[in-house]
Amino acid sequence: MSAEELRGGASAAAGAQGARLVLATHNQGKLRELRELLRGQVPGLDVDTQVVDAAAAGAPDVVESGVTFAENSLLKARAVAEATGLVAIADDSGLAVDVLGGAPGIFSARWAGRHGDDEANLQLLLAQLSDVPDAHRGAAFVCAAALAVPDTGGLRGREVVEYGQLEGFLLREPRGDGGFGYDPILQPVGEDRSCAELTSPEKNAISHRGKAFRALLPAIVEALDRP
Ligand code: IMP
Repeated sequence: MSAEELRGGASAAAGAQGARLVLATHNQGKLRELRELLRGQVPGLDVDTQVVDAAAAGAPDVVESGVTFAENSLLKARAVAEATGLVAIADDSGLAVDVLGGAPGIFSARWAGRHGDDEANLQLLLAQLSDVPDAHRGAAFVCAAALAVPDTGGLRGREVVEYGQLEGFLLREPRGDGGFGYDPILQPVGEDRSCAELTSPEKNAISHRGKAFRALLPAIVEALDRP
């Protein structure tokens, strides 16, 4: 068995034993962010073993068939809560450009046609906006974060969605090596660096996802308080 499989096996076992909250993602950065946010917030919750990702909880991948960030985050949270019997959280995010009426929006990850081709997505967007003057290059990263309680929970079937935004301006050329996606071309309001030039803690402190997760915190605490 490979080291990779061994790690997967160990986390699946941790998920089966005593997990209380599942984040519907395979992204370890998002899982770390959520664990840090919840650390010390819920009496008796061990965030490192009881807050797990989709694979550890044995949760299915969910098709994002909604047409809004909120719909997609809820679809994922609901399906994962149903499949695992655990309180579930999911997020959906993207870039909303003012002059494009909020596009790429839910299509952010596949704007140039191929899912996850960050460089092609960003270059296509820059080309589309090449004639747009600086005064009209406003854009924001947007995130919807959803919580779903399974039907067997104390707050049976409860669903909550919260939002977060990181507002900024689109640069004319990519800058910086950090981050992912559209980070090299979004400069937050009040910053002189792109998101890809910020450190991870700096980005997390102002990020759309951090804001949405923080807004969801009271609902998470309440759901975990009533098993
Ligand atoms: P997801 O919701 O994490 O799957 O993100 C969808 C897409 O939105 C990503 O593939 C990126 O293109 C874009 N995106 C979302 N959040 C960010 C961010 O913080 N920085 C850069 N791009 C992002």
